[in-house]
Formats: sequence, C-alpha cells, structure tokens
Amino acid sequence: MTTEIKVKQCLKKFGFEKFRSDIQEKAILSIINGKSDVFISFPTGAGKSLCYQFPAVYKEDGLSLVISPLLALIQDQVKALNDKHIVARTLNSTLSQQEKKIVLGDLMQRQPTTRLLYITPELAATQSFLSIIKKVHQRELINYLIIDEAHCVSQWGHDYRPDYLKLGTLHDELNNVPCIALTATASQQVIDDIYSSLHLKQPILEFKSSVIRPNLFYDVQFKELLDDPFIHKLSGIIYCRTRDTCSDLADKLTQTGQFGSVKAYHAGFTNEKRTQIQNEWMNGITSIICATISFGMGIDKADVRFVVHWDLSKSISGYYQESGRAGRDGKRSNCRMYHSARERDTQLFLINQEINDKRISDEQKTSMLNGFNALVQYCEEAKCRHLVICNYFGDMLIKPCETMCDVCTQRELVATSLQNLKKKKID
Ligand code: ADP
Ligand code: MG
Ligand code: ZN
Repeated sequence: MTTEIKVKQCLKKFGFEKFRSDIQEKAILSIINGKSDVFISFPTGAGKSLCYQFPAVYKEDGLSLVISPLLALIQDQVKALNDKHIVARTLNSTLSQQEKKIVLGDLMQRQPTTRLLYITPELAATQSFLSIIKKVHQRELINYLIIDEAHCVSQWGHDYRPDYLKLGTLHDELNNVPCIALTATASQQVIDDIYSSLHLKQPILEFKSSVIRPNLFYDVQFKELLDDPFIHKLSGIIYCRTRDTCSDLADKLTQTGQFGSVKAYHAGFTNEKRTQIQNEWMNGITSIICATISFGMGIDKADVRFVVHWDLSKSISGYYQESGRAGRDGKRSNCRMYHSARERDTQLFLINQEINDKRISDEQKTSMLNGFNALVQYCEEAKCRHLVICNYFGDMLIKPCETMCDVCTQRELVATSLQNLKKKKID
C-alpha cells in the first residue's frame, strides 16, 4: 500500500476527510517519516491533538505516552478517541483497582491493544510508574512521548506546573523515543524553557504558525465612559478578578432577565458545586458563566461565542489565552475587554505586591510587569488589536486585520473614547 493511501485511511479513523491546514499536514507527515524530537506551536483550535494522535495511530503496533495537565482534559480526550474506536486509556488516581489492573495488564501483553496512554505529570514522576514504563520501553513498545500544553513547564508562562519539570528525566529514560511537545502559547522565553527542561534533542523539528485567530473580533470598552455596559446574549464566559464580582455580576445579569441563566463560578464553591455549574454550562443549561481565571484551562467547548473580561488580565499572554477560549469551532466570536483606569491601578498595585512577596528573580519581575504593561497598552492605544497581540508574540509580518477589531472598523470612535478617558482622569 502506498503511504498516501495509508495516510488517507488513517485520517478516516478520526472521521476526517483531509488535513485541516497545510501546516497540520506537514507536521504530521514529518513526524511519521522521521525520528527527531518535535515542537509544535499552533493557536487554540488549530488541531494540535491530531498532530500527535495521528502518528500514534499510524504506527502499526506499540503505544504512545501522552502527558496532559488535567484529569478533565484527559477524560475528554480518551472518551473522544474511544468514540472513534481508537483504544486510548488513562492511568490515574481516580481509577478503581480493577480498572488499573486492566490497563497494567494490557501493558504487560506481548502486543498491548492500547494505542495512546494518557497520564498526568504527577503520575509520570512517580517511581512506580517509571518502573512500569521502563519495562514497556525495554520491549521497544513505546513509539512517542507526547507532552501536551508544554508551556506548563515554564515559569514565564501562566499555568506553570512544577511537575512538568520532571518530564525531562522521563524523556531521558525513554532514550531514542521521539518526544513531541505541543502548546498554543509560546513566547521565545517559554520555547527556550520547553527545549531545555524537556531535554529536546537537536535537530528539533519545529512547526510554528501565527498566533492570529482570524475568527475572533476583539474590542475594548471603557468602563468609566459607560452607563449601561452591553453584553452579548449567547453562550460565553465573563472573567472577573474577584469572587465577589463574579457573584454580583451573575446576580445583576440574572435580574435583567435578558441573558438566560447566568451563574457564578469560583474557588469558593465546593468541587461538586463547581463541577455542576461547569456541566450545566457545557450542556447549554447555563448560558453565561461569571468566573475567576480558575475557570477555563481544560475546557473544550467548541461554541463559546464570547469571552468578556470585566477586569483586566494579569498579562497580555494571559489575555490571549483566556480570550482564545472563544470560537474554537472557527465561527465568528467576540472578545471584549472592559478597561478601566481604576482597575488598571488596582491590578498594578496587586502585581507589585505579588512581586515583593514572592522570592522571584529580577528577570521574572520585569517579565510580569512587561506583560501587564503590554496589556494596558493594548487597551490604551488605537492600534489593530490583532496586530498588537501577534507582534507581542513575535509575529512581525501580520498586517492590520481591517475587519475583526474595533480599531480597524471604528478607528475614529476608539480614538475619541481614548481622548475622553484621558480627560476624565484629569477631571
Ligand atoms: P488545539 O489542541 O490545537 O486547540 P484541537 O486538537 O482540540 O485543537 O482541535 C480543534 C478542533 O478541530 C477539534 O474539534 C477537532 O476535531 C478539529 N479538527 C482537527 N483536525 C481536523 C481535520 N483535519 N479536519 C477537521 N477537523 C479537524
Ligand atoms: Mg489541545
Ligand atoms: Zn484590527
């Protein structure tokens, strides 16, 4: 059978007719034809999962080990693969003894049926797991070591997870097994950390696409200039800085009766309550969720039509990631920031406090402040929003979007608002 036919057949197993983009195709074909370590950075919704799931399934036998940061994410992925009749399994602390036995038993088979084994970084670091996986590796059954959300290894990014640092050792143990690291957010600092901490070996195959999300409409509204803030009526997330604001806003919006069911979500609720609120929102029973940033990572709802920030994020990369939860399905979606001079000063105060409390390096302090100042500039400058974001991440060739941000579509209005905001501060 020719490679071309085999590739087509494998795509069919995932229910796809063709690759989503040239770069997705290029990455996948290079991985199946090579043995190098691989780094992939595509924006959210670009189809990174297929970039490792395809090679894992394409190999005739053996299995791939997938590290993913959250149990909820793992369960979603395993279920989605099982629905496609692809044998994916997970080992984690929530499994019963019986379930664990089945997975471990399969790994000890001469030819395991498991094609993808998903685990958390915590488990990957345990001695008991390492000794199991070493045995599987000795029998040359491990095809790829896959590290999803690889930016979790870096303290420069958000979502830093210390257990990710131990994955370099795992990579060393699995010598000669190609490692595939994937992420949606990668500034150069984060990329450097990923390469060094995961012990990726040169020559590393790199696949990077622009961070631009062309289906997202970005705008900024100025709280001080608004009487009655406008909010969309579809399924969405409203991020607030404090628990109280989450609850207040959810109450206010519910009272207007215009937005369907609106619920607050924050770390003050029990786990069960949080899971319930999240499920109701996933299923469309709740249309809007007012949440602190503890809500979001690992949530894979394709039709989020808007992400509103009622308060500023901590940095522009945080904002990019949080707002990027809108429009995974590629349909037009809105990302709105409600900016306020007062909130900016409060946030800056809090960041300074955090910087002084924590024992962090000067470099890191500077990085936190730069990330925040870049976000303030995003709000307080009349420059294409997409351009500002893309340039921040080092995409230099992007032109103004022309149609997908408030500055491009209503430059005069934005400029006037900015002037009014400045006047207001002096008053
Ligand atoms: P990422 O991890 O980059 O955020 P996902 O892997 O979750 O993105 O994919 C986003 C969406 O794109 C999913 O719904 C997935 O099924 C879909 N997708 C990925 N590749 C293809 C393809 N080749 N054809 C059609 N849909 C695809
Ligand atoms: Mg992903
Ligand atoms: Zn624009």
